[in-house]
Amino acid sequence: MSSQKNLFDTAPPDWELDQHRQRRVAAVVLSGGARGVFDYLVPEKFCDTASRDSLLEPGRRVSVPFGRANRHLQGYCVGLETKTIDPRRMKDVAAVVDSSILLSPPMLRLTKWIADYYLCPWGQVLEAVVPAGVRRLAGTREVTLLHVPPDVAQRLAQVKVGSKKQRQALETLAAGRRPLTARQLADAVGCTAGPIRQLLKQGLVEAQTKRIGTDKFDDDSAVEREPALALNTEQRRALQIIEDALESSEAAGIVLHGVTGSGKTEVYLQAIEHVVGFGKQAIVLVPEISLTPQTVSRFRARFDAVAVLHSHQTHAERHRQWQRIARGEVQVVVGARSAIFAPTPHLGLIVIDEEHESSFKQDTAPRYHARDVAWQRALDERIPLVLGSATPSLEAWQRVKQDEFKLATLPKRVMDLPMPDVVIVDLRDPAQSRGGGGGISRQLRQAMVCALADGGQVILLLNRRGFSTHIQCPACGHVLNCPHCELSLTYHRQKNNALCHYCDYHQPPPTACPDCASPSIRYGGLGTQKLESEIRRNFPEHVCARMDTDSMKARGSHERVLKAFGRGEIHILLGTQMIAKGLDFPNVTLVGVINADTALHLPDFRAGERTFQLVAQVAGRTGRGRQGGRVLVQTLNPDHPAIRAAVHHDYPTFAEQEVAFRQELQYPPWGAMIRLLIRGPREETARAVAEELAGQLQRSATAQEDGFRLVGPAAAAIPKLRGNFRFQIQLHAAQMSPLCQLVEQTMAQHKPPKEVVTTIDVDPWDML
Ligand code: ADP
Ligand code: ZN
Ligand code: ZN
Repeated sequence: MSSQKNLFDTAPPDWELDQHRQRRVAAVVLSGGARGVFDYLVPEKFCDTASRDSLLEPGRRVSVPFGRANRHLQGYCVGLETKTIDPRRMKDVAAVVDSSILLSPPMLRLTKWIADYYLCPWGQVLEAVVPAGVRRLAGTREVTLLHVPPDVAQRLAQVKVGSKKQRQALETLAAGRRPLTARQLADAVGCTAGPIRQLLKQGLVEAQTKRIGTDKFDDDSAVEREPALALNTEQRRALQIIEDALESSEAAGIVLHGVTGSGKTEVYLQAIEHVVGFGKQAIVLVPEISLTPQTVSRFRARFDAVAVLHSHQTHAERHRQWQRIARGEVQVVVGARSAIFAPTPHLGLIVIDEEHESSFKQDTAPRYHARDVAWQRALDERIPLVLGSATPSLEAWQRVKQDEFKLATLPKRVMDLPMPDVVIVDLRDPAQSRGGGGGISRQLRQAMVCALADGGQVILLLNRRGFSTHIQCPACGHVLNCPHCELSLTYHRQKNNALCHYCDYHQPPPTACPDCASPSIRYGGLGTQKLESEIRRNFPEHVCARMDTDSMKARGSHERVLKAFGRGEIHILLGTQMIAKGLDFPNVTLVGVINADTALHLPDFRAGERTFQLVAQVAGRTGRGRQGGRVLVQTLNPDHPAIRAAVHHDYPTFAEQEVAFRQELQYPPWGAMIRLLIRGPREETARAVAEELAGQLQRSATAQEDGFRLVGPAAAAIPKLRGNFRFQIQLHAAQMSPLCQLVEQTMAQHKPPKEVVTTIDVDPWDML
């Protein structure tokens, strides 16, 4: 070998000389476009730790040349390494975009995990995790501020300057306590820009560029302080379990199963006090819908520094909160799903309240579940994760059963308040006649009359918005469907139109059948608007309010209605699942479930679980005061196990039955599941792609995958949506990682026509 060296008699090529020199190499993930991690050389100027603004570190964004045309693209630096490479083969990083890191090393690891587990490009995950407002530095701008350097300030009297104005400007700036912009200084002195330029030139004044906030924010509205409550025995025991986990400095999952009104929030609050006492921070996730002033003020009443994150915030507000959190100024972050990515520097605890809620699963890529991301973060940062619910998800429950998570139970309501009596109203019974398509049975009407006469308030749940939920011709049976979705249109009376709830298509209500021209169109099915008019007719002397997405469009309307209800100005509150959650009003003595069966027959393996949760949760809204409370559940399926269990407040029995049923079919929480959804504007093309994909998966799977099972392809439960035909493939296996690998490898070779889109949903939640 050494003899070969002699072949290079003349000077060896540059890179040979350089070969023994180590180079800084940045690993870069592009924000969009090409998948993968790309290496770039880091020029000297980005290695200088003295000029922090242009220092390249993992977690900052960079601009890099890409492809043959060397187009500049933005990406995230996810790692730095010093290694020996052939520098000719590597391009330079062109620019450093951020002047500080957007993602800490633990957050980079977390996003990598999400990318791998949910089969989503890492760059796309990074873009989803860092809010747009933060990426764009919303609500800030750069200003150049002038100051007098300390050595000049010390010998101010001796300094020689060119003119009176210059002296005036110098002295004004030195005397002021804060740096000024050139404009402010010129105005203060009454001079032009000239004298200031001269001072800068001579080095008597220095300029510095800074980013400042431009928007004014209301300070967090002052809330009256509340002391911690004295815990009851069960609460103390639950708190002890969390505190033990905190002290162990290890990751721990704790399911806090507490019936509605058992005081779970008080346990969270006191656990967080503990965490804050160590100088660490806590993240509390709640469903978006529970981010009510009621919830938020309970946290503000205990802690000095609370940041609230929700989806209605402006970019500027998001950015400001993110910066506060990253600086460690916030003790508690309260927010919806994406708050799991809050950049807390010393995280001590994560709490997920109502962890069974479907809103913790994101329905666009990355399709992550906040519970699983939280557990990953807890493992990485070695902290406890508390999952609180009256109706825990079977996923969480199964982990308790398998001794992976601990269980803390609050079996009773606080202050010895009893659980409300739950009574089933069998709608098949003709004696319960609801009169002409109405929604309220005789028994429920009587209960309402009694509750209202005693000065109590009533909550009615109907999980269907609109007036009539389907429009049908009795002569030929034609149902009015959405032309883009093949789902029935709902009649909305206020807007007087027939509306598709999936794509917002609407048309005037037909006066005759579009098919057979028969004039006798029937408006059937009960929606919240129709229920509202039934109540107004039957209870004209009482005030009633409706809460659903149609009536709650205006900003703050949710809050307004709840406040009025709290003050007793509204007697009957009716609405969709929006009213089933988190509300705590002691004067509610009756809850009516108009139709417990709405979710029961959906083609979704979680239909039973959802029905149980909805009935149990809405039942929890009553009996929170001394007057007690009752719940009436109207159903056509009084013997269904989910409904029976909800009536008896019997979660463990429900969970046991349901877990056994899931095991039979290998549905979650057993095994791993991925759903592929293939959609396209032409039915035949979409179906062909789905069939080909299923064939490929089946062929590459058979030999190796343990317990592998493929179901489909089949038309999805919603076969057409927004003009696209939809097909699904369900994949099951014993373990997730081989299943992910299989899907990833198959998808890499899968080249469908452009019009067909395939989405991959790992641990799917939405089965429609
Ligand atoms: P959950 O979250 O379990 O539904 P909450 O935390 O909302 O229950 O508690 C219900 C009510 O009980 C709240 O008004 C709360 O202030 C009160 N509460 C909680 N713990 C106690 C306690 N130990 N003593 C007295 N009242 C309590
Ligand atoms: Zn007809
Ligand atoms: Zn539609």
